[in-house]
Amino acid sequence: MESLPFAIDDRLSGAGDTLPLAGHLDETGYALGDHEFSLPGGIDYDLVLTNAGEGILATGLVRAHVVGTCDRCLEPAEFDVAGEVDGYYLFEEPERLAEDEDEADYELVSPDNTIDLSGALISALVMETPFVVLCREDCRGLCPVCGANLNEEDCGHAAQLEAQREAERLEASPFSALAGLDLGAADGDDAPAE
Ligand SMILES: [Zn+2]
Ligand SMILES: [Zn+2]
Repeated sequence: MESLPFAIDDRLSGAGDTLPLAGHLDETGYALGDHEFSLPGGIDYDLVLTNAGEGILATGLVRAHVVGTCDRCLEPAEFDVAGEVDGYYLFEEPERLAEDEDEADYELVSPDNTIDLSGALISALVMETPFVVLCREDCRGLCPVCGANLNEEDCGHAAQLEAQREAERLEASPFSALAGLDLGAADGDDAPAE
């Protein structure tokens, strides 16, 4: 992961001081569970840093064009993500954590008085990355029989499977026995009886 160091200087020396910070990070990608995502255009960020007394708060927006893999057809799936940044960098390790606070909620300001904003940017992207990734909403996926990409071709297996399912459905139906019966009227005359 690329780092995005920021050196805390006089502009943020007092509690309540704020500093806008916008720019671009050449991050190439990130992972979420089993999914890998690439960032061909990096990440754009537009933040405000605030000295909140006990630490530096980083809030604002990130935007990125994301390329992943379609969960259905395994072709590239592209989408834009806009996420809200919420990073917190404490000047000192707190003596004890509030009960509803876990360690993942903050980082520490480095001894050289810098913070690394890249983790907060990635987290903001991850929060807005869809759980199911599709190349398009109605992606038809891959044929379970031959693996053909059904967006590009119809291999015919889907129709065959459907016909087979239909045949099985009829066979399982209680009326299927009737279909085999000769009721005596099957003489080819469709006219209603008297
Ligand atoms: Zn797809
Ligand atoms: Zn097929």
